Amino acid sequence: MPGEPQDDCLFCKIVEGHVPATIVRETETTVAFRDINPQAPTHVLVIPRAHYENAAALAAAEPDLAADVLREAKAVADEDKLDSYRVVFNTGPGAGQTVFHVHAHVLGGRGLQWPPG
Ligand code: 5GP
Repeated sequence: MPGEPQDDCLFCKIVEGHVPATIVRETETTVAFRDINPQAPTHVLVIPRAHYENAAALAAAEPDLAADVLREAKAVADEDKLDSYRVVFNTGPGAGQTVFHVHAHVLGGRGLQWPPG
């Protein structure tokens, strides 16, 4: 079923507390935790508790939940006092997606180049 936890999903395991993570914010619908391999002073992943493969699948199935993720991305940036920051949804292996539970990367705390590599 769309949105149901997946046994083989690392981020579902973080949501369930079965894999440890440095959690910075939690809401009823989302969890935000620090990336294990940070690419910037702030590098936080914001995920919905529900399992969707990518941002497009989430937005199509549960647009309000997609909005929750974006609101939490801003809350993370506010907590880290970031004036400027980047929110990235890698979508598909060719774009660098390695974990197929939708996550917003919130990156900031240093100058960010454009375009990204
Ligand atoms: P993607 O490449 O799918 O856009 O992003 C996946 C992110 O998850 C990567 O930035 C990677 O460093 C991070 N990551 C992978 N495994 C873990 C983990 O076990 N814990 C945490 N906190 N982050 C992880």
